[in-house]
Amino acid sequence: MDVQSVVEEPKVYLLARCKSTIADQLKYARCQREDIKTMQDTNYQDVKIRDVVRYFTGDNPAQWVESGEQHQGTYGCPTGCGAPRKRFMDLGYCLHLQVKSLEGRRQLITSLPAGARGGSAPFKGLNKDQLIQNLDATGYDFDLECNKPELESQLKQHLAGASHIPALLYDEQQSTLKAINLEQYEVSSFESLHNAKEHIKNLLEELPNHVNQLEVQSTFQGKEVMRGSDFRKLLITVTTHLAANGGDLKVVELPNTLCEVVHICYLGEDERSPRLVLRLANQIYMHSLLVREVIGTQPTSIKPRKLYGQYYHSISTHAPILYRLINLKSVNAKHQEKLFNSLRGILCDTTSRRPGEVLGIGLVRLQAEQQGESDMAKEESQVSALGKSLRSVVPSNNTVIPWRYLSKPGLQLHYQPRRKVT
Ligand SMILES: [Zn+2]
Repeated sequence: MDVQSVVEEPKVYLLARCKSTIADQLKYARCQREDIKTMQDTNYQDVKIRDVVRYFTGDNPAQWVESGEQHQGTYGCPTGCGAPRKRFMDLGYCLHLQVKSLEGRRQLITSLPAGARGGSAPFKGLNKDQLIQNLDATGYDFDLECNKPELESQLKQHLAGASHIPALLYDEQQSTLKAINLEQYEVSSFESLHNAKEHIKNLLEELPNHVNQLEVQSTFQGKEVMRGSDFRKLLITVTTHLAANGGDLKVVELPNTLCEVVHICYLGEDERSPRLVLRLANQIYMHSLLVREVIGTQPTSIKPRKLYGQYYHSISTHAPILYRLINLKSVNAKHQEKLFNSLRGILCDTTSRRPGEVLGIGLVRLQAEQQGESDMAKEESQVSALGKSLRSVVPSNNTVIPWRYLSKPGLQLHYQPRRKVT
């Protein structure tokens, strides 16, 4: 039995019907807050238990809503590092930034008059006077004698992507996270399922333009929906093909390093060790620079903004740090997503969608389906089989950082925070 999977198996907690707008999604924050507060002191028989909520695990756009990050535009990293999208490919710059905690983001928002008033988009539609008032309140020496677009740009720069209060503080922005039992709560900076899947997808779309002999036929052609596991299998096929055909060493290493990164992302907590923490950091550093070296800053099949977007940024900048703190399988949203899809399928296909019927019949049917199928066990064995395939293609030799990478500006920053652990 995989104890970690059993402990981390998701359960349905809140079933709500709302529009997909941020304002509607935030309406359920109060209900969640009340429940989280009650977790402070619980009892199991005579034993006092204090549950600590640590990580929000989910994919975008849920991550953005949870952390209060803007959804589109100049910024877009829900971790709060404040890197603009156009600089996601600049490893030296991104590693230099300090990640803001959720409490830091709350203080940033509420320190300004517009943010203190609350709402789901407090900085939208401000007039010139309001912009000046907010910029003045920052305490920094901004140029206030300019036109409205320039004032907006300065405010945007100050907020660095923060657009509203973190979701669980909605309508209670003056309360600290500590006051509602969320002192240690953060939005996970990396979600392995979607980040790995989308990065593999982007890379394989562009790679044929840089490899002459690449003639790998996708065994998934005609498949309507490509899942994360399908992309991982495709990555193994491409890696094996390139390794067998030789060619430019950098091109062979590019998918090879990614295979090992993905492999480590799916290992359980019992296998996490200081050696593996360092190995993941090494492979990510090598892979991030190889993407730049092999593909360059101007890919031909996809836009640079897509290849060097959120997924590349999360892997290259945040995944190594997060792996020091937590096993990456624990923040994988695979099971949550599967549960959500099953529930949505049941509700759409077998109920009249009236609230009474949804709650009663829908949940009973979901329970019956889960008991009958034992999906978790089936999926775990699939992941394990795929893990063995990945392990067979990853190199077993020590990491060798080429001389040409030693002068890169990100090198020192990449290893600096890891010295104590490794
Ligand atoms: Zn970031």
